[in-house]
Amino acid sequence: MAPTAKASSTKQHRLLRARRSSSKRTAALSPEALLGATLPGVHHRFVPVLQQDDAVATGPTRDAALSDETLAVHAGEKMGGMVGTDSIATPIVSGTTHWFKSSRNLIAFKEGRRHSFEYGRYSNPTVKVLEDKISALERAESTLVTSSGMNAIVATLLALVPAGAGHVVTTTECYSEARAFIRDKLSKMGIKVTFVELNDMGTLKAVLDQGNVTLFYTDSPTNPHLKCIDIKLVAELCHRKGALVCIDSTLASPINQKPLTLGADIVVHSATKYIAGHHDVMAGCISGSKDLISRIRAWHHDLGGAISPDAAYMIIRGLKTMALRVETQNHTALRMARLLENHPKIEQVYYPGLLSSPWHDIAKRQMTGFGGVISFEVASDLHGVMMFVDALEIPFIATSLGGCESLVQQPAVMSFWGQSGEEKAKNGIKDNLVRFSFGIENFEDLRDDILQALEKI
Ligand SMILES: *Cc1c(COP(=O)(O)O)cnc(C)c1O
Repeated sequence: MAPTAKASSTKQHRLLRARRSSSKRTAALSPEALLGATLPGVHHRFVPVLQQDDAVATGPTRDAALSDETLAVHAGEKMGGMVGTDSIATPIVSGTTHWFKSSRNLIAFKEGRRHSFEYGRYSNPTVKVLEDKISALERAESTLVTSSGMNAIVATLLALVPAGAGHVVTTTECYSEARAFIRDKLSKMGIKVTFVELNDMGTLKAVLDQGNVTLFYTDSPTNPHLKCIDIKLVAELCHRKGALVCIDSTLASPINQKPLTLGADIVVHSATKYIAGHHDVMAGCISGSKDLISRIRAWHHDLGGAISPDAAYMIIRGLKTMALRVETQNHTALRMARLLENHPKIEQVYYPGLLSSPWHDIAKRQMTGFGGVISFEVASDLHGVMMFVDALEIPFIATSLGGCESLVQQPAVMSFWGQSGEEKAKNGIKDNLVRFSFGIENFEDLRDDILQALEKI
C-alpha cells in the first residue's frame, strides 16, 4: 500500500533532521535555494511530489547543511519535486510543448503570476530537476543545462561579453576549443581578447587596470597538466575592477570544487564528464546568480542548444552516484600518482594532489579532492610510450574523462598527431606524455595493469 501523505511527511522530517552534515563545506545559500525547494508561486500547474505537510520540512527553518552525497541523490527530486508524480525516479517528460487550461492562465503565466513550462527549447520539467540538482551541488541560485559543454561555454561568452565593446581575458592554458573560440571567433565580433599565463597575477592585474575587462575565463584544474588557479584571489582582483569571473570546473567536478563559494560569478562544466559519469551522454551546465543565468538563458533560447529530456534523465541518474564515483576516482588517482612519482620509468607526474606539485598549495585550499585525472611522462620516446599504452589491458585508448571506465591517451598521438614540434612545445606536450582518467575499477587491478605495461618497455 502506498504510504499516506502523513507517513511520508514524518519520514521526510526524519530524513531531513537526521542528516546534519559532516561535510567541511558550508552552504553559501538558503536551504530552499540549495534543495531547489518550492518557491512561492512555483507549483501551480504541477502537483509537487511534496504535499502541503512536507513543505514545512523543506522550509527555511530546517538545517540545510546536507552533504553532497545526499544532495546528489535527492536535490531537485524528493527535496524539490517539479514533476507531479510519486514515482521515485523522475519521469522523462517528453512533450515539446505545454498546454494552458485557459487564456486567463496563459496571461497569468505571461505576466509572471503563474509558473508553467511553455516550450521545450526554453525549459522542460525533467531538465528543470537536473538544473535544480546541479544548483544544489554548486551552491548556485540558478543553473542552465545545455546540449554540450562547448554549448555552455559559447552561450556564456556570447551572453555576458558585449560584441563591439567587450574584453575577455583568458589563460594560455585552457580547454583548447574554448581557447580557439575566444581567439578566433570572439575577436572577430569586435571583442578584445587578452591571454595571460595561468598564474601570472602581475600581468592579470596590469590588464585589469586598463579598466575595461568584461570577463575573465579559465579552467581549474587545466587539462592535461592539472594546473590550478587561485580562484579566490582572481575573483578579488577581477571584482575590484568590475570584471566577471567564469571558471570551467570540469576536471574538478562539483564534488571536489565549488568555484561560486570561492567568489567566481559563473561555473561551467562539460557535464559529459564526471557529472554524467558513464561516457554515454553529452551535456553542459552553467551555474551562477539568477540574474546572470537568466541573461545566458535568453541567449540560449536563440542558440537552441537545448538538451533532450531523455539525456537529462540519464544525467539525473548518473548524478546519484557522482559523489561515490568521484571519491573513488580521487583515491585511485592520488595513490597511483604517488606510486608513479617514485617509479624509475616515470620522469614526471602531473597531479595537484602531490606534495611536489607547484599547484598543491592552491589546490589544497580550494579543493576537497584532486580528481581522477593524472598525466605523466614516461622515460621513453613516442614509440616506446605507444607500446606502453598498447600494453594496458583495462583502460580504453580514448579521449574524454570522468566516467566509470578508465581511459588512457597519449596527447602527442590523440590530439596533436601531425602537428609540428613547435605547436606541441607551445602547449607543453611532450611525445612521452600520457593522460590517464581513472574510472571506478579496483585500484589494485589498475595498479597491476599499469606496472605490467611499464615492464613491457
Ligand atoms: C570536454 C570538455 C569541454 C567540452 O565539453 P563537451 O561536453 O565535449 O562539449 C570543456 N571543458 C573541459 C575542461 C572539458 O574537459
